[in-house]
Amino acid sequence: MSQVLWFRRDLRIEDNAILSNAKNKVLPIFIFDKNILQSLPKNDIRVSFIYQSVLKLKEKLQSIGLDLAIFYDEPINVFKSLKAKGFDEVLCSVDFDSYAKKRDDEIEKILPLRRFLDSFILNPNDHLKKDATPYKVFTPFYKSLNIITSSSSIEPLARNKELIKSVFDYDFIPTLKQIGFEKQNLPSFLKLDAFSLLDEFKEKINDYKVNRDFFYKNAPSNISVHLRFGLISPKLVFNYFKAFDDENSEFFIRELFWREFYNYILVHYPYSEHSNFNNIQVQWNENEEDFNKWCEGKTGVPIIDAAMIHLNNTGTMHNRLRMVVASFLTKNLFINWKKGEKYFALKLLDYEASSNIGGWQWGASTGADASPYFRVFNPYIQSKKFDKDGIFIKSVIPQLKDVEPKLFHIENGTSSNLFCEYPKSMVDISLSRKQAIEKFKRAKNENIRN
Ligand SMILES: Cc1cc2nc3c(=O)[nH]c(=O)nc-3n(C[C@H](O)[C@H](O)[C@H](O)COP(=O)(O)OP(=O)(O)OC[C@H]3O[C@@H](n4cnc5c(N)ncnc54)[C@H](O)[C@@H]3O)c2cc1C
Repeated sequence: MSQVLWFRRDLRIEDNAILSNAKNKVLPIFIFDKNILQSLPKNDIRVSFIYQSVLKLKEKLQSIGLDLAIFYDEPINVFKSLKAKGFDEVLCSVDFDSYAKKRDDEIEKILPLRRFLDSFILNPNDHLKKDATPYKVFTPFYKSLNIITSSSSIEPLARNKELIKSVFDYDFIPTLKQIGFEKQNLPSFLKLDAFSLLDEFKEKINDYKVNRDFFYKNAPSNISVHLRFGLISPKLVFNYFKAFDDENSEFFIRELFWREFYNYILVHYPYSEHSNFNNIQVQWNENEEDFNKWCEGKTGVPIIDAAMIHLNNTGTMHNRLRMVVASFLTKNLFINWKKGEKYFALKLLDYEASSNIGGWQWGASTGADASPYFRVFNPYIQSKKFDKDGIFIKSVIPQLKDVEPKLFHIENGTSSNLFCEYPKSMVDISLSRKQAIEKFKRAKNENIRN
């Protein structure tokens, strides 16, 4: 029996489901999937990060007597050829994303595929309310997981140390250029491994609750990218902070479960990938020029522009800024959250379908346990509250470095400054807010009548 261990979003050897469940002779593989890669721009930062992570995984597997065969192909071709070479079955972690589900179903027609839960703590299919329906609201969902969240640690999966490396040609390592990409500079936090990031965050966890919304401070953990690609398991993040057994760690762990919640929602309500979770029908603004201004950070609202330019330059955006730009797009510009979601999917280093869809539907007030439709973030109040001195805004938009920060927090304050050229806000904030609330109210009432 020869098993193929297909690494996808579990690029680690610790607490890894396939290394734990595998037996005897194994061929660990990673596929640079042409189907996914061909739709991405050459300068995609994520590919540089994944590339680097795959090479590190290869080294780690070598250090335990195994290796990693790397392919640049369509998965179907890879598995057809592995079947022809006599491999019997494939072990992989469950991937709940819609492309991944379809892809895995196709592979299963070629070779038996055993999927293991690995990227999330909770198996969404194993957890329902007493009435046998899924949870839709975060707090009861979280409370219902008390048996997990109150435990001092969750047993990590031990690696099977008896595995034998299959004979195979492990030498092929395509260059980034060969797979169609240019090497990108990674943000400095991605130069650290997951545990170094957690060690760094541990020093500031006591201030996390208070500081995490101040987007000019580096207060959060920055662990989302590592979680996304499985460089650490959520279980090990949980265990790391549980060991401190204090209120601040508990607060942080609760945040981790938002990731679990949005995955749970997407698994139980797959239609919410493409449609409003609450089924309301909204006539969105289809103006492409408005959308492009938002994407490019040319809205004339400093906090929005800085957040979007920063996203475009680095692939990162602070959580509070994600909420603020999502509210601006869906409420002030009244543009469909799906367009914002798609744009984030293209840009975010930590892009994860379930959290992104959940976050966007939350911001648009169309999702599970979403922000109420009448809650519209005022971008000027947000920047005044969380970046009073304009530190973040100035760091991203150098032409604003000499502008008095208080002007950032007043509608059209920045454009009134004669010494810098800055556009007027593309939309009247209070008028657009009122209009959005009216439209949502109508859509909700119509939905109730239907
Ligand atoms: C519109 C919008 C889109 C988003 N898209 C994504 C996305 O594509 N990928 C992604 O990982 N997160 C997404 N988030 C959630 C959140 O912004 C990021 O998880 C967080 O900013 C990552 O930084 P961090 O690891 O430093 O977070 P921390 O504050 O240190 O939180 C630790 C971890 O908890 C989890 N977490 C915290 N808040 C949330 C949340 N609201 N939803 C889901 N998980 C959460 C994440 O796994 C995060 O890494 C989105 C939020 C919004 C409002």
